[in-house]
Amino acid sequence: MPPTFAQLGVPDSICRALERNGIRKPFEIQSAVIADAMDGRDICGRAPTGSGKTLAFGIPLIANVSQAKSRRPRALILSPTRELADQIASELRTISGPISVAAVYGGVGYVNQRKQLQKGVDILVACPGRLEDLIDQRAVSLHEADQVVIDEADRMADMGFLPAVRRILDQTASERQTVMFSATLDNDVAKITRDYQDRPVTHEVGDATPDIKSADHRFWTVDKTERVDACADVISATGPTIVFCRTRHGSDRLARQLSQRGVNAAAIHGGHAQNRRSRTLQEFIDGRVEALVATDVAARGIHVDCVACVIHFDPPEDHKAYLHRSGRTARAGQTGLVVSLIQQGQHADIKQIQSQLGLNQPITSPTPIEQNAAPARRRKPSQPHGVGQANKKPKGNSQNPRNRNDRDDNRGGGRRSNGNSQNPRNRNDRDDNRGGGRRSNGNSQNPRNRNDRDDNRGGGRRSNGNSQNPRNRSDRQNNRGGQKSNGRPQGRPQQQTRQKQRSGASSR
Ligand code: ADP
Ligand code: MG
Repeated sequence: MPPTFAQLGVPDSICRALERNGIRKPFEIQSAVIADAMDGRDICGRAPTGSGKTLAFGIPLIANVSQAKSRRPRALILSPTRELADQIASELRTISGPISVAAVYGGVGYVNQRKQLQKGVDILVACPGRLEDLIDQRAVSLHEADQVVIDEADRMADMGFLPAVRRILDQTASERQTVMFSATLDNDVAKITRDYQDRPVTHEVGDATPDIKSADHRFWTVDKTERVDACADVISATGPTIVFCRTRHGSDRLARQLSQRGVNAAAIHGGHAQNRRSRTLQEFIDGRVEALVATDVAARGIHVDCVACVIHFDPPEDHKAYLHRSGRTARAGQTGLVVSLIQQGQHADIKQIQSQLGLNQPITSPTPIEQNAAPARRRKPSQPHGVGQANKKPKGNSQNPRNRNDRDDNRGGGRRSNGNSQNPRNRNDRDDNRGGGRRSNGNSQNPRNRNDRDDNRGGGRRSNGNSQNPRNRSDRQNNRGGQKSNGRPQGRPQQQTRQKQRSGASSR
């Protein structure tokens, strides 16, 4: 019999809050990691999409976090996209009691975010780009952040994000708990483990091959001229659907075409202003939009109750993208349908993805879909809670695909423009995560020059870059565990145990 939250050492106040939200028994990944995380251990956690990883790292953070001083958060959660940052903060707030939780990300104004930080934020959820901007502006310091979570860790460890993630980790407390989670942990993550974790415990739930079997996966050959109709038919048959396209322009076009066919569709991608992105997602959550047509900006982490179907309108970049896109349905024990629309010439790539994922469905012509019973009720509408909802429009004509790399997928590469970030032509306007390249040092103090930056911008060397500096790591062992309890009901009961465990550890 699985343990209860209380048996895992979760404080009463949090158990009661979970209960109020209808969360009574821990999911498997939560049973596996909560005790170790509460104990202060570094953790590498892998579990399928929709398996409850947010609470697996969130409950221990809330239980252990100390009270923050102004502009000095005590816990940091890094997220690759703004929407995910918002969702993590919202979910944690439902159980955080007196602990303050705030999200900071790009595409919205700075004023509210600075105000919140000034007041004091215990747990900060952040996208790397905006976080670095706020650090540059001295609106926040990470020196007292001694609990760090990297969600979607493999994404954060790829070349688009890694340099920024390193710079950020280098500024957190040297004695620190570092926790990483994803549905896919790969070699990129090992680099962060090597440089920033101390004897992490690894907890993996599900098969070594990614576990995506809870959904019904279908692979259909569809001629290009029939793709939109096929897509509309699936949505009509299944209900709430997320449709993934390769480019921003393609997403806008498909949303229009679906609307012309009577499907209530809206696009979400990195070319839209953040207020529009938030509004569109909310409309989908509320059921006012039936089909969310998205780039891969929506592929990671986002949870919407009762998504009946995911359609790969354009094929995913690779098996990881397939897995994360598909993981927007069949979450938290529910079922779902995943349909790939495949054109001639794409079969070999799809076969490759299938074999990497252990899927062996044949590629067929479209098969009938049983008309769904009315989709289960969606979660009650809730407003996004990010601190920065001050709807500042991103600059630049991001609607015009010609001016940019129109992809939202955030694969790395490319030198970043220097200085003139106002000029959309000069910027890689890609999304929540774009690639490497050297970063401009010029006007980073001036928020106006950077407000359009994303949740994650490219690499380039910055700051002290001392991740290799043993002081940032090996010294930790002697000092870890020295965190003081904030005297609030949820103290850090097992910290001492952790300190003992760590003492005498050899430096890595
Ligand atoms: P993941 O990060 O693994 O993709 P999430 O953390 O987004 O998944 O969780 C998916 C859904 O499951 C969320 O709506 C969350 O509130 C719900 N959930 C998490 N843990 C439990 C639980 N123990 N019991 C019931 N629902 C849960
Ligand atoms: Mg998640």
